[in-house]
Amino acid sequence: MRNSLAKFLTIVTALLVVMLIEVFAVSVKAAFDHRHEAQRIMSIVTVKRDMLICEEAMRVEGALLDTALEENDAAPPGTVDQIVRLHARSQDAFAQIRQHQANQFANGYDEILKHNADYDRLLPAILDAATKIRADRPKGLVEARIAAANLVLAALGRKSDSLSRTVSSTDPLIGEMLRVADLGWRARADAGSDRHAIMAAILAKRVPAPQALQDMAEMKGRVVTSWSLISADSRLPEFPPEMKAAVARANWLYFTDFMSLRAMTIDALSQDKPLAIGGRDWVRLSDPGLNSIMAISGTALDLTASYAERQLDIARRNFYISIASMMLCIALASFCAIYVIWRVIRPLRAITGAIRAISGGTFKGEIPFGDRADEIGQFARALRMFRDGALERMQLERALVESRVAQESAETSNRVKSEFLANMSHELRTPLNAIIGFSEIMQHQIHGNLPGRYVEYVALINEAGVHLLNLVSDILDLAKIEAGKFELDPREVDLRETVDGCVKLTQRRAEEKGIALVKNLPEGHLTFTADPRSCKQILLNLLSNAVKFTRNGGRVEVAASVQGGHMRISVSDNGIGIPADRLACIGDAFEQSSNDPMLAREGSGLGLALVKALVCQHGGKFRIDSQENSGTCVTVDLPLVQPHRAAA
Ligand code: ADP
Repeated sequence: MRNSLAKFLTIVTALLVVMLIEVFAVSVKAAFDHRHEAQRIMSIVTVKRDMLICEEAMRVEGALLDTALEENDAAPPGTVDQIVRLHARSQDAFAQIRQHQANQFANGYDEILKHNADYDRLLPAILDAATKIRADRPKGLVEARIAAANLVLAALGRKSDSLSRTVSSTDPLIGEMLRVADLGWRARADAGSDRHAIMAAILAKRVPAPQALQDMAEMKGRVVTSWSLISADSRLPEFPPEMKAAVARANWLYFTDFMSLRAMTIDALSQDKPLAIGGRDWVRLSDPGLNSIMAISGTALDLTASYAERQLDIARRNFYISIASMMLCIALASFCAIYVIWRVIRPLRAITGAIRAISGGTFKGEIPFGDRADEIGQFARALRMFRDGALERMQLERALVESRVAQESAETSNRVKSEFLANMSHELRTPLNAIIGFSEIMQHQIHGNLPGRYVEYVALINEAGVHLLNLVSDILDLAKIEAGKFELDPREVDLRETVDGCVKLTQRRAEEKGIALVKNLPEGHLTFTADPRSCKQILLNLLSNAVKFTRNGGRVEVAASVQGGHMRISVSDNGIGIPADRLACIGDAFEQSSNDPMLAREGSGLGLALVKALVCQHGGKFRIDSQENSGTCVTVDLPLVQPHRAAA
């Protein structure tokens, strides 16, 4: 049992530790995943922004190049320089993309880089052609540039879309921003194509073919379609304010300002009216509008990046908090386990060991940890109390058994003694009666005179015989009572008569000592129901004691009165009294006070024991009051009526 509890506690604690570690490991894993995802989004958004910069740079560069190649005149050196700068910018952006090849979250740019390399190889020839007049330029160069640029832009678009698809489902805001960025991207691409077509028409200086007009209308339609989706989203309350501002700006710059310029230009072109602006002006005037559409994507990607950055910060913080919490929990759980083992299991084991030793018989063994103030201490103290109680009970039981054995053996020996005495007393009486009888005959010299000395001897023999007979009678009576064989013979007793008879019997001895023997009885009848012989014996024993233990010239008084349902008889004297330390045992058989050894030798120590036993047989009470050298008063209360007599 001891082992199983300890094991149980240990296993439960260990399980708790494991569970806690598991719970925290899950939360650490989740935090790690969030961090990883935020890092991935950050990377993807960075790549997309770089790709957007590439596209924008290529489109601006392309617009200028195409204008220069479509014009009849050679491009001025300023324009060529501008184109070179723009190309350098776009190539920087592509260099950034090249660096992302090693990015674990967003890689695979081979197609884009390959098409860009092709385009880059083509550029010196294009720039060279732009510095010449139209007639000297090689044919098909514009188409070749547009085809090469479109391959790059298409590859960028595909990659951008595929990157968006990998993150769109993770977070609603990120998904929405990427969608808007892609829509802006598409609108910008269509707007760019539209601008290019109109620019070509402006430079051609003739009425565009119906097919060309239709293409322009379609391109505008595509821009408007993409834009309507962005506008619809921008009306949602959760749409970020920065985006709302960007949308409002594009609405104004492109869809209001530029659209009116476009409408006027197409109108003039289709009606063959002279145009107020040239191809380069057209590109310059359209730049703010197109850039404002591009800014939609840029702003969306900026917002996505800053949002992802915040998410990354939170995820990073959660990750470290989770790790710290896990460590703390492991430490706490380990502390708990050690605490439980050290402060609970160990004391329980020690206490159980002590209890086992106690139950094995080592009652004095100490129960440890009783000085602790906690529950273990209370438990140890309770067990200690229990042990003490059990010990006390055991001692009491042992004492009880011993006293019972002693009592039983005492009762047995008492009974054996009483039976023995009863038999022996009877056997002694017969020869004693013969001794007394024959000694009396010899005393009275009935059969002739005895020599002087013999008369004295015979008197001594008679006296000794009488004393012995009295002793034997007392022993016999006492033994009979103790053996339960003494039976009362209750009759009406005239106490006055009994007192007179007993006083007469002790008178002679009192007179010898000059003791005044006084009777103090009330007037009238003094009768009650009792065993007459017992009453006489009680009174005689008390009177003879009083006379015996009173000095010459003393006083002995016998009194009687009815007290309630009792007859109270008292014999008092002003004799030698009984020492206080002996008083308690006076009245037990063979007990004598030792204050006068001469007097004690006269008695046997049975007189009062017999009185007590007889009073007890009557259902009465016995009391002795005495003071050394002052006197003694023995009081006896006998019931006026004996129960079985009254019933009869
Ligand atoms: P005993 O035969 O010795 O008188 P009792 O049983 O009558 O035996 O009395 C026991 C003892 O009690 C006596 O030995 C005596 O010491 C004491 N005793 C009894 N009655 C008196 C008394 N009236 N005055 C003084 N001592 C008494």
